Amino acid sequence: MRIVLLGAPGSGKGTQSQLLVQAFGIPQISTGDLLREAVAKGTDLGKRAKAVMDSGKLVDDAIVLGMIRERLSLPDAAKGFILDGFPRNIAQAGALNALLGELRTPLDAVVLMDIDVDVLFKRLTGRRICQDCGRVFNVFTSPPGTPPHCAQCNDMPRLLQRPDDREEVIGKRLEVYEAQTKPLIEYYRSLGLLKIVDADAETQTVFEALRRAVGV
Ligand code: AMP
Repeated sequence: MRIVLLGAPGSGKGTQSQLLVQAFGIPQISTGDLLREAVAKGTDLGKRAKAVMDSGKLVDDAIVLGMIRERLSLPDAAKGFILDGFPRNIAQAGALNALLGELRTPLDAVVLMDIDVDVLFKRLTGRRICQDCGRVFNVFTSPPGTPPHCAQCNDMPRLLQRPDDREEVIGKRLEVYEAQTKPLIEYYRSLGLLKIVDADAETQTVFEALRRAVGV
């Protein structure tokens, strides 16, 4: 299975990718995660990317493409992959097509996680991530247990908010999605690859719809 999960920030791409990873053992390739890793390690690339990410804008195509090229060449990607948060604009989609053409591993499907902007705002402002296990919570819709702790780590809460999930940055990220990423819907529709899943539902319901959409 080689798929792209397309959708606005907060549409559930990461959560659904993780479920696909568990069910099918293929890697999730998230350019956001790769970039955050580089930031955390303090690499040159990470230092350059951090300010851009914190402002809600897109990191340079060349940086992201280099990371994707490297990641797709790792052995685990040979059995399939879920691209999460990439491509983010038409230039990246064109470059991905060319790269996958070279590797003779074309995409099977591109799934649009369809959801209303108002719902997204709540999801993003409420999102918290466990610093220890990476599990994603939402203070409005899926809070950690009471007393609030990470159910998986079962310890004191060490929940973090991503710097770009602050209210003042979210508006910019949604604007960037509308202007740069949304055109990919028509792009992939014209290639006959687009599937649409209603992403405004319980996680498990969305997952079932996603499985039906990609036929697994
Ligand atoms: P995400 O975790 O996918 O929401 O990404 C977080 C941030 O990383 C974005 O707001 C961008 O600044 C950057 N980023 C992630 N993926 C890409 C991409 N494909 N192209 C450019 N910037 C990206």
